Amino acid sequence: MKTIILDMDGVMVDLLKGLSKIIGLDMSKYPLGEYDLWKAFPQQMKGFSWDDLGEDFWANLEPTAEASQIMEMIHGHNSFIFTCPINFYDGKLIKGCIEGKLRWLEKHMPEHYKNELYLFGRHKHFITTQNTILIDDNNEYVKEFSSAGGKAILFPRIWNSEHENADIGMELVRAVFETWTKQ
Ligand SMILES: [Mg+2]
Repeated sequence: MKTIILDMDGVMVDLLKGLSKIIGLDMSKYPLGEYDLWKAFPQQMKGFSWDDLGEDFWANLEPTAEASQIMEMIHGHNSFIFTCPINFYDGKLIKGCIEGKLRWLEKHMPEHYKNELYLFGRHKHFITTQNTILIDDNNEYVKEFSSAGGKAILFPRIWNSEHENADIGMELVRAVFETWTKQ
């Protein structure tokens, strides 16, 4: 049996949809492959701070279109959430982020919440083993995890290197997942 490590933002949680509602980001103009929102939308992101969002924002984000299919796919395996509540720019915890994310888990992934199957932090590759599979939308995390000897699947999104496959992301993730979990 494998242990699946699931990312929240960009995999289970539609962070960008929630953020674009607040800031007014035009997703049709997204520069493909750019993960850094400040580089993608320099004008709109000017003066923005993750700390402005608050606990309710993180708690009320919608699941991604694929979240339920991901849950179905990993059913029968051990799994837990690994998410980063830290601002990359100053290395500090984002205000209200952990509290909001826990409320999100309680609502959308109650078993994981109840059984405390979650970790908060930045260095996902620290927990790599041969039997862990990371599913993440961040190129760096996937690279670090693979370099540490684990299996990592990059979920294709318009903001990562697999952006050309963003429309068929779930199919591709499922194909790799099935191959690896049969081994
Ligand atoms: Mg993510």
